[in-house]
Amino acid sequence: MPMIVMKFGGTSVEDARAIERVAAIVKDRLPQKPVVVVSAMAKVTDTLLTMARAAGAGERKTALKLCRSLQERHYNTASELLGTALFTDFHAELGADFEGLDELLRGISAVGELTPRTTDHVAAFGEMLSSKIVAAAFSAHGLNGVHVDAREVLVTDSSYMEAAPQYEETNERLQTRVKPLLDAGQVPVMGGFIGSNRAGITTTIGRGGSDFSAAIVGAGLGAERIEIWTDVDGILTTDPRICPDARRIKVISFDEAAELAYFGAKVLHPATVLPAIQKNIPVYVLNSRNPSCEGTKIITRAPQGKNIFKAIAVKKRITIVDVAAPRMLLAHGFLRAIFEAFDRHKVAVDVVSTSEVSVSLTVDSNQAIPALAADLAKLADVKYEGRKAIVCLVGESLRDKPGVAALVFGELADKKIRMISQGASEINLTFVIEEDEVPEVIQRLHRTFFADLDPEVYA
Ligand code: ASP
Ligand code: MG
Repeated sequence: MPMIVMKFGGTSVEDARAIERVAAIVKDRLPQKPVVVVSAMAKVTDTLLTMARAAGAGERKTALKLCRSLQERHYNTASELLGTALFTDFHAELGADFEGLDELLRGISAVGELTPRTTDHVAAFGEMLSSKIVAAAFSAHGLNGVHVDAREVLVTDSSYMEAAPQYEETNERLQTRVKPLLDAGQVPVMGGFIGSNRAGITTTIGRGGSDFSAAIVGAGLGAERIEIWTDVDGILTTDPRICPDARRIKVISFDEAAELAYFGAKVLHPATVLPAIQKNIPVYVLNSRNPSCEGTKIITRAPQGKNIFKAIAVKKRITIVDVAAPRMLLAHGFLRAIFEAFDRHKVAVDVVSTSEVSVSLTVDSNQAIPALAADLAKLADVKYEGRKAIVCLVGESLRDKPGVAALVFGELADKKIRMISQGASEINLTFVIEEDEVPEVIQRLHRTFFADLDPEVYA
């Protein structure tokens, strides 16, 4: 039976008005048999984690106070959506959940220890609550909504806070617990991000995991499409704050979208929808504040159109670390020693370029860098320089078009360019510039490569 998955992120369910918009959007799709996956209301997961840590540090009062304000926000949202009569019943259910959370926080602060397992117990309240409220709101708005506890469907291992889905069992449960609801004409609503292990203990699958949940559900039920509803119109040719004339990309390949996400484009990270992509299920990024916009479709093989690049991503606040080994050249084991130092300081590297005697690496600027540099100084001469930005031009056409680098750098002949790399994936051209030159560089490149757009690919 054809069906779809519609996932709504935190901002799409942030308050009663947002949830009303969601109900209207889902109503429009009823004939397509949607399963709805929701995030916690915006910022709720952060708040839950803050209160869990407060409790773990023995700050019981702080934790309980945060819990109160969260309770108020959920009560207010639910009562606005449901009206007094319906809210009376629902109130008791929410009340029981908050009593549970309260008790949990008191327990954590009494013990004064917060384990990953307990963290997941607390974090799961966000999606538990939002999914219940959205399901109730659907019913109040004439949709046949039914709440499904995601923890009874998504089976994971026991790596708390970053649990790995167990696909076979999960798919079985999707068939036995979710599909019958669709068959009965209902609209199942479940929380993303949360699951449970085989023993039934609550787990979460990692921050931002609701997209992943949606992909798992869609892949398991053989969805025709997965819709990721956010608060932007889709994936754009570049950051619209830098280039107001950035345009929407109608269709993009999975690999291209992955490169963009990696280099700073603020869109869904395609790795999280891998289960869908592997099954060739198209994923759409859509805007719940502008539902008539067609968004961006992500598929395995996308038309390339006549433009060389699909998009330009920029990642600011970058530091370049130069490690030079004048005496030993790049001796055996040298690179490994360098990377081990980055690993020890938990500093992730984006771009690497090497010469015979030196290595340059880019990292997100952060406080660990001075300590890392001190550590590296034991191996070699180290310099680091902040206020840089990575520019990444992405497009599958790059694979078979010669002379592209000349075009790009010809445009930037008067600029200082560092660390050029044409990624191993062959679909990105990446380099580092001074951060304060970002607007000019991006605007210039956008003007050159996105002036005349192929209507098949761009809106
Ligand atoms: N609420 C969770 C988070 O903020 C999961 C999600 O929104 O995707 O990380
Ligand atoms: Mg979220």
